Amino acid sequence: MNASREPIGVIGTGYVGLVTATGFAELGSDVICVDIDADKIARLKQGEIPIYEPGLADLVAKNRERMTFTTDLSEALERARLLFVAVGTPPTYSGDADLSAVQAVVDAMPASDRHALVMKSTVPVGTGANIKRVFTEQGKDGFRYVSCPEFLKEGTAVADFLKPDRVVIGDDGDWAGDAVADLYRPLLTAEHGGQGSGELVRMDIASAEMVKLASNAFLATKISFINEIANVCEETGADVLEVAKGMGLDDRIGPKFLKPGIGFGGSCFPKDVSALKQLAGNSGYHFQLLNAVIEVNELQKRRVISKLQKHLGSLVGKKIALLGLAFKPDTDDMREASSLVLSARLQADGALITAYDPIAEEEARRLIKGVDFASSALECVQGADAVVLVTEWSEFGDLDWAQVAAAMAGTLVVDGRNALDAAAVAGAGLKYEGVGRGTLA
Ligand code: NAD
Repeated sequence: MNASREPIGVIGTGYVGLVTATGFAELGSDVICVDIDADKIARLKQGEIPIYEPGLADLVAKNRERMTFTTDLSEALERARLLFVAVGTPPTYSGDADLSAVQAVVDAMPASDRHALVMKSTVPVGTGANIKRVFTEQGKDGFRYVSCPEFLKEGTAVADFLKPDRVVIGDDGDWAGDAVADLYRPLLTAEHGGQGSGELVRMDIASAEMVKLASNAFLATKISFINEIANVCEETGADVLEVAKGMGLDDRIGPKFLKPGIGFGGSCFPKDVSALKQLAGNSGYHFQLLNAVIEVNELQKRRVISKLQKHLGSLVGKKIALLGLAFKPDTDDMREASSLVLSARLQADGALITAYDPIAEEEARRLIKGVDFASSALECVQGADAVVLVTEWSEFGDLDWAQVAAAMAGTLVVDGRNALDAAAVAGAGLKYEGVGRGTLA
């Protein structure tokens, strides 16, 4: 641990801000965490963690002495030179990123030649240049700007912070870029509590902004690609799991993100793909590939409906059990979760839904209406005509399928993530329908 590390400010204490703040505290920095959400700050002050992220609560507790939580930006400005910005940039109706929270932060900065904004929020290419122009217009020329996009994944965010594959820094070659590099370097060299062997790359601001959008768009493309391969497998008798294994062994392709399912969701992929598509369109380029990526993803969420209809006929009055609601396991994040589309479509078709999620229920109750919530997987499948695995929480892999079969009224299990043991499901007398694998009974 390096006691001489400089204090930093973090603006926004959501998934990215809180993990970043805690990670820097773990490395030895005093961190002043600022949020406009007074309730969130009050909870954090009491040691309550407002989000579910494995390992985060323990790490906050361990570093509590170095972390200040406040709604008062001036506390951060007083003590820190670097102000990491981790406010939300959700999509607008047009698909462009909503930069109003970023703009509010920019406007709240004073004239200063001692401070720098370090942008962790995902923003369109050109945002840094715009912010620098606004700083100039507002007489804040001395304020420095660094782009430092965030690549952490919800569910493994703490480990991702402590052991990054890469740290990308876009800057103007001034003190601020150097200071951000100094902060991150220990994470890359296994010094000072760091664990990794990742690379730190420095570039201009616009390129750093593009690295983030292009990375997410590429991963989303890989998912939509394997989903389409899965759909063709269903028509042709191939098993997509075998296909993905065979493809992934090619080190030019790699096995990651070759897992077919019922579509990607979450707060990043849908929004960043659409933001890049809009960014391209706004600058006069038609990004055809991304249109297809988005369309395939939307259709993929709905394919579950046709699988249910194939076996059950009309869904009117049918009882469907949804296992998992969060956009992926190990998070309570429901943003753009496939379960939102699925439950709405099922209800529109007249189905009766019972749902269970081990962590995301509170958030799901806010977003999904007209659904019964069960307090366990077994309670959820009680009397169901069909079970749909929506989110691959590990506890669903441990289900006793004989017990499930006894509890259900029907026999159909649709495994939307290919996460279940198909033979065990079929062995319990149930009909197994995965993604890209045909029906097993
Ligand atoms: P979030 O919604 O969880 O958190 C944002 C926080 O910012 C909220 O607590 C909100 O109250 C606060 N905030 C809003 N305006 C503010 C202001 N003016 N001053 C202080 N606080 C303010 O968002 P998130 O998931 O942490 O994402 C933050 C950014 O990071 C987004 O741009 C996102 O695209 C990007 N990102 C997210 C992830 C992820 O997995 N969640 C990964 C990489 C990058």
